[in-house]
Amino acid sequence: MHSKLFQHNKSEEFRQPASSGRPETSSAKSLMDIGTRRIFNEDHDLFRQNVRRFFQEEVVPYHKEWEKAGQVSREVWEKAGEQGLLGVMTAEEHGGIGGDLFSAAVTWEEQMYCNCTGPGFALHSDIVMPYIVNYGSKEQIKHFIPKMTAGKCIAAIAMTEPGAGSDLQGVRTYAKKDGSDWILNGNKVFITNGWMADLVVVVTVTNREAKTAAHGISLFLVEEGMKGFHKGRKLEKIGLKAQDTAELFFEDVRLPADALLGELNKGFYYLMNELPQERLLIADMAIASCEFMFEETRNYVMQRKAFGKTVAHLQVFIVILLVNIFRIFHTVQHKLAELKTEICVVRAFLDSCLQLHAEKSLDPATASMAKYWASDLQNRVATQCLQLHGGWGYMWEYPIAKAFVDSRVQPIYGGTNEIMKELIARTIVSQK
Ligand SMILES: Cc1cc2nc3c(=O)[nH]c(=O)nc-3n(C[C@H](O)[C@H](O)[C@H](O)COP(=O)(O)OP(=O)(O)OC[C@H]3O[C@@H](n4cnc5c(N)ncnc54)[C@H](O)[C@@H]3O)c2cc1C
Repeated sequence: MHSKLFQHNKSEEFRQPASSGRPETSSAKSLMDIGTRRIFNEDHDLFRQNVRRFFQEEVVPYHKEWEKAGQVSREVWEKAGEQGLLGVMTAEEHGGIGGDLFSAAVTWEEQMYCNCTGPGFALHSDIVMPYIVNYGSKEQIKHFIPKMTAGKCIAAIAMTEPGAGSDLQGVRTYAKKDGSDWILNGNKVFITNGWMADLVVVVTVTNREAKTAAHGISLFLVEEGMKGFHKGRKLEKIGLKAQDTAELFFEDVRLPADALLGELNKGFYYLMNELPQERLLIADMAIASCEFMFEETRNYVMQRKAFGKTVAHLQVFIVILLVNIFRIFHTVQHKLAELKTEICVVRAFLDSCLQLHAEKSLDPATASMAKYWASDLQNRVATQCLQLHGGWGYMWEYPIAKAFVDSRVQPIYGGTNEIMKELIARTIVSQK
């Protein structure tokens, strides 16, 4: 499949020579500059230009309207499909675009650079699609992937339940065998793309007697329109206002045998395999959001006047005499220097993780470190950048306000940051 935006991005061609001459973000003029970072090349730059244009033209102008509606339009999904922004790193032979991981990362980052979190493209393309491609039958791949790449079939993944979030082994949604069919009962909550979803990968118990809960979990493909499959309300969230996060209910949904994804009772194993990519994606989006917030704040303080100077040039040294010790408080410039340094340090780690994942050697603990650290940093950067905007930062019309509330969920979903620390800690104390 060839898209309008996508130029022949095949993985072997992407390795840059060590002397690529591409500046890292720390030396670039702006943290969002095109043409930077060793992990990318000129094809990626061209792709990035086009993706940036797409978000500016097809997403930014409509986002306020979507925030009010609590969902994006179907048209934007189809336009993204037409332009080759969905299924970017899914192989062409499976009905995807056939690009590499770095091109997918361009789409994640550009969405954060436009500060519009409504469209759940990344979850659809790089979280749900891999389950179908990696574990689905030929028929399932042929049936769903081309439609998903075209934006005509919106996908979600339903793991979390009201009583089971961090502890996925506690899921209660249950499928009982009935002849060759399955009868599905249960409910899920907080499902991204849940309201608009045409297809949901549902994490389900299929063997209550398994030696551990993890050995009795399977994945099913549940489609919109199946009798007994209901969508609850679009959840009212403090951020991600244009994202249709929803509750899902399954009441005696009859599923044919071919709705099972992969092998019976292997669902938990599949989840463990795929979660590192989900964590990497969240981490890359988190650091891209930091880059956006930093540039937004730099622009703001460069033009904001206070005491007859721009805030950026206000050198307020407050000296406090306390038992003969002078303490000098940070200036705005120092704050910007700190923020930029922290962001660039984490960007370097993230680029290294992207490179490792492209080589299929990113281990789960490293992906957890990236997710935990980048999403926590995103929240620290959001707080400090909002502070530098003063009262205006608290006003919804200022992009930093939206970036601030949208940041808050990042340490929660995709496995909370406390769970990330658990996963990292296990590898530290493990004797093996
Ligand atoms: C906007 C949004 C979108 C989401 N999208 C999806 C989606 O598309 N699909 C999906 O399946 N889910 C989704 N989720 C759910 C998300 O993954 C869960 O909320 C998350 O995994 C945490 O589960 P929980 O909410 O049940 O919290 P709990 O598991 O109840 O955790 C509560 C607190 O206890 C802490 N805690 C729990 N266990 C431990 C432990 N062992 N050690 C230390 N601390 C612990 C947690 O870190 C947390 O701070 C989404 C959530 C939100 C808010």
